[in-house]
Amino acid sequence: PARPATAPRLRPDDVFIAVKTTRKNHGPRLGLLLRTWISRARQLTFIFTDGDDPELQLQGGGHVINTNCSAVHTRQALCCKMSVEYDKFIESGRKWFCHVDDDNYVNPKGLLQLLSTFSPSQDIYLGRPSLDHPIEATERIQGGGTVTTVKFWFATGGAGFCLSRGLALKMSPWASLGGFMSTAERVRLPDDCTVGYIVEGLLGARLLHSSLFHSHLENLQKLPPDTLLQQVTLSYGGPENPHNVVNVAGGFSLQQDPTRFKSIHCLLYPDTDWCPVQKQS
Ligand code: UDP
Ligand code: MN
Repeated sequence: PARPATAPRLRPDDVFIAVKTTRKNHGPRLGLLLRTWISRARQLTFIFTDGDDPELQLQGGGHVINTNCSAVHTRQALCCKMSVEYDKFIESGRKWFCHVDDDNYVNPKGLLQLLSTFSPSQDIYLGRPSLDHPIEATERIQGGGTVTTVKFWFATGGAGFCLSRGLALKMSPWASLGGFMSTAERVRLPDDCTVGYIVEGLLGARLLHSSLFHSHLENLQKLPPDTLLQQVTLSYGGPENPHNVVNVAGGFSLQQDPTRFKSIHCLLYPDTDWCPVQKQS
């Protein structure tokens, strides 16, 4: 959709992209992101991890945050990270918060273009649900033994999602300064579901379902090749599911580029020094 002529253009430092990672992924996953999309989105990107790594600190140029959350895949540890991401975003004063995993490719230009079609003062929660129906959760109200059920949509964290500053500020009673972890405990749900719970279940706002965000829960091979460069996020199946990658042709074989992120990056940014030289046409 065309942006209204009056809407001010989004600047890169209006957007805060939080990349969630963990110490053991610095080498295997983050290196690739730093060489590809993060290199074109330095000002926007903040890396949230759980262990000190001087080498990453150096590569991240002051944008690496050690959350001191524990390096385990539990609800508590992941919600701890989301809570720090949220607090750092609020502190940054930026207009848009986006969260991605360390197995996501972000198309920075596509993301800015998408966000610029909305106003950050509206209640915007944008992403892709992984379920085709709202999730139903049991809510334990503190103190009393009352248990109620709530139904809400949530954007899957592994596909990336964004929140406007306006909405993020309204979330603060349930999200800021560790509140996010208590809220997650109340519904006993992972970090991404808890965001949906706060937005839809508690604030009555709505998830805007977007087909431009992608996780490896989808069949990524099915994405039409001619639409790949318009997508806002991509992912890959990883060692357990190496065939679940996007179908992109280019200068790199599957062996050279098992995630396909290098191939995508070279189509988006052909002037990158390590990209294959373009054929003269
Ligand atoms: N992750 C983390 N701590 C852990 C394990 C994973 O912060 O102990 C992060 C990881 O870096 C990634 C996200 O959680 O950004 C999802 O992890 P992964 O892709 O390994 O698993 P998935 O949930 O997608 O199957
Ligand atoms: Mn993943």
